[in-house]
Formats: sequence, C-alpha cells, structure tokens
Amino acid sequence: MSAKGKNRSPTSMEKCSKCNKAGNPADKKLSITCDCCKDLLCGDCHGLSPTEIRVFELKTVARVVTFLCADCRSTMTQLPSILKKLNDLTDEVQQLRLRQNMMATEAAVHELTERKYRAQNIIVYDIPESTSENIQEKKKHDSEEVAKLIRGVCNIDCSKAKMFRLGAPKSADAPPRPLKVILKSKSEALAVLRNKGKLSKPGSIKADLTPLQREYLKYLREELDKRISSGEKDVTIKYIQGQPKIVKNKILSNSQKNC
Ligand SMILES: [Zn+2]
Ligand SMILES: [Zn+2]
Repeated sequence: MSAKGKNRSPTSMEKCSKCNKAGNPADKKLSITCDCCKDLLCGDCHGLSPTEIRVFELKTVARVVTFLCADCRSTMTQLPSILKKLNDLTDEVQQLRLRQNMMATEAAVHELTERKYRAQNIIVYDIPESTSENIQEKKKHDSEEVAKLIRGVCNIDCSKAKMFRLGAPKSADAPPRPLKVILKSKSEALAVLRNKGKLSKPGSIKADLTPLQREYLKYLREELDKRISSGEKDVTIKYIQGQPKIVKNKILSNSQKNC
C-alpha cells in the first residue's frame, strides 16, 4: 500500500501503488493521491496533463474537481448496479424474514396442538406382542395387558381406551413395540404418570412427548449432569405445571409433583 494523504510529490520513501516504483523528487511529472482510496500514483501512471496536475495541486478545500484513480473510477461506474443489487438483496432479506416468522408461528401452533393432543396419551413399553394372526385378538391382548398394568398404578377404567403399536411389525424375536394408549383425558394421563412409581418397572410407562419436548428433556438432562459433576447438590428435574425444569430439591413444595 502506498502513502496516504494529500496530493504531493513523491519522496524517495513513497512508492506508486500501480508500478511500485519509488518516487523521484526531481521528477517534473508530479505524483498524485486518489481522493477516494488515497493510493499514490506516480507521474508515469496517473496519465494527467501538467495543467490537470496543477488543478489537483490546489489545496483540497479550494478545488471542486476530484481525482479518482482508474480502479476507483471503474468502481464508481459500477455503483448504480451495485446499489440496485443491494436494494434487491434487502427486499429478499425482508421476504425471507417474513417467511421465517410465518414458519416459526406455524411451527409453534403445530407444536401446541400436538402437545395438547399428546397430553392425554401415555406410551407403554415392554408388553409382549400377541402371536395371534387375528387382528381383533391382538387388540384384545394389548387392551387386557394395558388394563392390568394401569390397575397397578391408579383406579382408571381404560378398557375402552384406544391404543396401537408404534412402528412397523418386526420379527417374532424382536423386542415388543411400544404401545400408544389414548386415554379419555389429560387428567387421566397425569394420574397414571404421577403414580407410575408404584410399578416394579416405572420406566414401562412414559409421557407421550413431541420430538421437541424429547429434545428439550435431553438438553435438561445434559445440563443437570454438568451441574452435578461441577459439584452442585440436591438438583433434579421436576415437572412444574407440566413443564420440566431443573430445580433444587429444597425449593419444591408438596403441591409440585414429579410426573
Ligand atoms: Zn507508477
Ligand atoms: Zn482510488
């Protein structure tokens, strides 16, 4: 990069930004600095006549003519198209932001609807699948097994609850597929989840969470592990008004129950 500043004759220290030759103070063709980029051009490179040079030698405040080097002149001619592109890009960004907001709102509405629907469901694991070929018999088997399991948890009649296996059928020796059980209400599902600790395997009943809820729970568990390994005590994940949170055990009141 050449020296910056007002138009002046090159000294032996200054070099032309184009040909990189050091300035010659004895040179009659004076050097000049671009008013835009401040690069210095030697007499061989700026292509100005002695009269033009005299104009540019006037002090900056006294003259209205601006000297631009070839690069800056070329950039100036591209300015209108650059500005147009900038305007187009600004419009595009605005459109994208609008679309993004719209998608985020749609996703939030979908998530809320999905959570509301899933709130009355439970997922039941480890119930062996019937080997019968008859679909009605398979359903009867699942229904009876689920009713038996839930009787051990709380007093809810789920004999008419809808239920179905999750995932495509697998080979006979594969682990049984989980069952999604649709109960009559959210309060029935909560009652089962709050009392599942009575089971010998409480993990065989879980809440029906959306992928986002599962992801958030995973994040909370990782955070909890970090806090415990950094020495924090008495912290755990509890459901407060249906939302999982990391809390200190001592701040929990009796009314806040674990799901
Ligand atoms: Zn030069
Ligand atoms: Zn320039």
